[in-house]
Amino acid sequence: MKEKTGLESPVSELRGVGVRRAAVLGEAGIHTIADLLYHLPRRYLDRSRIVPIAQVPAGQEVTLIGQVRQKRFIPGARPRFVLIVEDGTEEIACVWFQGARYLQRNFAEGDLLALSGKVEHFQGRLQITHPECEFVANAGEPELLHTGGIIPLYTTSADMKEKGLRNRGFRRLMHAALEEFAAGLEDPLPAELRQRLGLAELGDCLRQVHFPSSWEAMAQARRRLAFDECYTLQVRLARGRRARREAGQAPPMPRSQRLVPALRASLPFALTGAQQRVLGEIAADLAEPVRMSRLLQGDVGSGKTLVALGAMLQAVEAGFQAALMAPTEILAEQHAATLAALTGPLGVGVELLVGGLPAARRRQALAAIASGEAPIVVGTHALIQTGVQFARLGLAVIDEQHRFGVAQREELQRKGPGVHLLVMTATPIPRTLTLALYGDLDSSALDELPPGRKPVRTALRGGERRPQILEFAAAQLREGRQAYIVYPLVEESEQLAVTSASEGLAQLQAGPLGGFALGLLHGQLPAEEKNRVARAFKDGQIQALVCTTVVEVGVDVPNASVMIVEHAERFGLAQLHQLRGRVGRGPAQSYCILIAGSQAAEETERLQVLCQTQDGFEIARRDLELRGPGEVLGLRQAGLSELAIADLARDETLMLQAREEAFRWVGA
Ligand code: ADP
Ligand code: MG
Repeated sequence: MKEKTGLESPVSELRGVGVRRAAVLGEAGIHTIADLLYHLPRRYLDRSRIVPIAQVPAGQEVTLIGQVRQKRFIPGARPRFVLIVEDGTEEIACVWFQGARYLQRNFAEGDLLALSGKVEHFQGRLQITHPECEFVANAGEPELLHTGGIIPLYTTSADMKEKGLRNRGFRRLMHAALEEFAAGLEDPLPAELRQRLGLAELGDCLRQVHFPSSWEAMAQARRRLAFDECYTLQVRLARGRRARREAGQAPPMPRSQRLVPALRASLPFALTGAQQRVLGEIAADLAEPVRMSRLLQGDVGSGKTLVALGAMLQAVEAGFQAALMAPTEILAEQHAATLAALTGPLGVGVELLVGGLPAARRRQALAAIASGEAPIVVGTHALIQTGVQFARLGLAVIDEQHRFGVAQREELQRKGPGVHLLVMTATPIPRTLTLALYGDLDSSALDELPPGRKPVRTALRGGERRPQILEFAAAQLREGRQAYIVYPLVEESEQLAVTSASEGLAQLQAGPLGGFALGLLHGQLPAEEKNRVARAFKDGQIQALVCTTVVEVGVDVPNASVMIVEHAERFGLAQLHQLRGRVGRGPAQSYCILIAGSQAAEETERLQVLCQTQDGFEIARRDLELRGPGEVLGLRQAGLSELAIADLARDETLMLQAREEAFRWVGA
């Protein structure tokens, strides 16, 4: 996009903005005209929906607009500030107890106010206590600054309010800025593109988003501004992809003629359609002389390991080594065992490299990796340590990629001169989020589970049902099954009286699960202890594992049939879905019981999503809708902070359009 002319001038260029005001605006992050124009209304007030005071229903939340007739500070034991406001139909008293003494100077007779709150009848007249209050216009000032009956309301800082830049002042400023700059703005989007996608011109959009002539016009304006954000983001991603492809030479690996077909022939089942499709996508990437960077998303149990193995065998057949990096030792060991069982008959060896190896085995492993004798290497972070040298690394696969930083992924890729990269995640995220976060990667999705999976029966229960739930778990244990009981925190925190895992263990031992072998697993245990406990659970020596979310990844115990989650409301849906994925891995019917510590309606609605579907993508979509992207991902991700207007839950089409346009423009 071209620079937006004029927009980068300091706000002090505006008439009415002197040094003092500029400083106040600067405090609020508004330095340039662009900052100002892109400070969008937080919400709008619809004048056409305003109720005349005479018709205000008592006891309900309403918004009304009226003029200040009188203001009065009433001292006494409970000092209060009262405004009498009227709108030509009736008058109403607005009462403040908090800050009563200081409120007086904020209001003048004749000010036009929008007031929101609950109206009561008090001593024979209408009253609102502590209403939310917005200035529509100052006394004597024509209310020119809104058309179509829609009044923009802005978030203004306390300091701005102090300095006369509460809403009315801010609106005036905005109006002035638009008058002066909107017409002269050069639209960075070419007219042809705007026309094709039905996007209005930038200056108009800014005018409409601040002072809408109708709701429809406002929505159109927002859409255009949201598109700009998506487009800017996608241009950046497209450039990243192009740069990487231009710089990233890698050895072309022809499609496998021997090993992959042999692998497929040896399986007791057919690959799912999704597995075949994704294997094809990866095979095509590997055959190119450009480094692959592909994200593979697939729900728990969708069969990512086989896809990864298919890719690794293509590399091996082409004469290269392939490495698979997993976040925990247990997971790495499992992968090594699974892969070895599959590749043994094909004559392809699997080497394991984890931190806990005895010195002699470690030396052997390092030697085999360095000589190229080990075609497939599976490990943890141990793989990216400096002492590890590959003879001819051609493909790096990262499992549970969200457990690794970008730097760690790249380090593995740097273990060879040109290494293809496949990153896998079992945490499906909605399409829009994938496009925003990983838009510079190519992406594949395993959106189909192997046939015959029994859905995990999932129930949401209140804490009062705990005795029955644990009795049920005990019955399953007596039948030879195993169970997980997950707690949200390790130590009891003072604000949140949560039963911690350690405390939970003590209670369970003393009570309902007394006769059984219980184990405790949480993130603060030393690594060897974690491994020991996880192994004991896998071997069946521990029947019920009391734990925190460390089990989210890495433990594969097909015999486990019960997952109990305490304080389920503390977890994100995607995380709960991952936890549930720990059971239902064997032939037995499995159960997931979510114990909710709160009965709040919105929490219940959120958790019910898990009971309704087993589809990770659907769950992720609902999670995004209900909690927003920041919460869903649990961190501030690059790419998301750029999106202030675009809504990832809603603007999927917009993001896709922006991507298509941006990638075509950049030629990525
Ligand atoms: P995830 O995607 O969670 O890593 P895995 O690769 O561990 O899933 O696969 C889960 C289980 O499904 C494994 O036991 C695997 O052998 C089995 N599996 C994979 N693909 C198929 C298939 N096409 N048909 C039947 N079972 C399959
Ligand atoms: Mg897996």
